[in-house]
Amino acid sequence: MKYEYCPICGKKLEKKYSYDEGDVPYCQKDKIMFFDVPKPCVLVAVIKGQEILLLKQEYTFKDSKILVSGYVANGETVEETVVREVKEEVGIIVEKPEYLGSYYFKPKELIMLTFMVRYVSGEITKSQEVDEAYWVNMRDVLQEMNEDKVGKDVVKKVFKRIGYNEEKYLHKEK
Ligand SMILES: [Zn+2]
Repeated sequence: MKYEYCPICGKKLEKKYSYDEGDVPYCQKDKIMFFDVPKPCVLVAVIKGQEILLLKQEYTFKDSKILVSGYVANGETVEETVVREVKEEVGIIVEKPEYLGSYYFKPKELIMLTFMVRYVSGEITKSQEVDEAYWVNMRDVLQEMNEDKVGKDVVKKVFKRIGYNEEKYLHKEK
């Protein structure tokens, strides 16, 4: 976000030169530089055996299920965000977040940090902000996520990381 006014005192910001960034909006009164930074958020694939946790939220995709997501709160590590968001949205305990890479989402100025995490305990008890939540078998996950391109990319990385081979698994089922 490009700041024009100080979010603390409301004064119009001036430009101050910073070696790495060039001219940066600056408040003389509060002596703070307001860098044009994105909002960090997490996108989380929760793994339980051969299943992945998917949510349905009508306001995001109409015909698609999605992974757990949420904003990083000030004062916590990103790994803490992962565990907290899963607990808040579906009431289950997870552990050992593994980082899978990041994506930039321009329309909302988000930097999405993606993770996989292991299920530990608890039953799904969804929060108000979630319409539905379910464990979906890995062989059906990509299809269920139809519209969610980033989410599907994350799931493919999970498959690679855990050595899940879709074709091999389907073959075994027959
Ligand atoms: Zn100010």
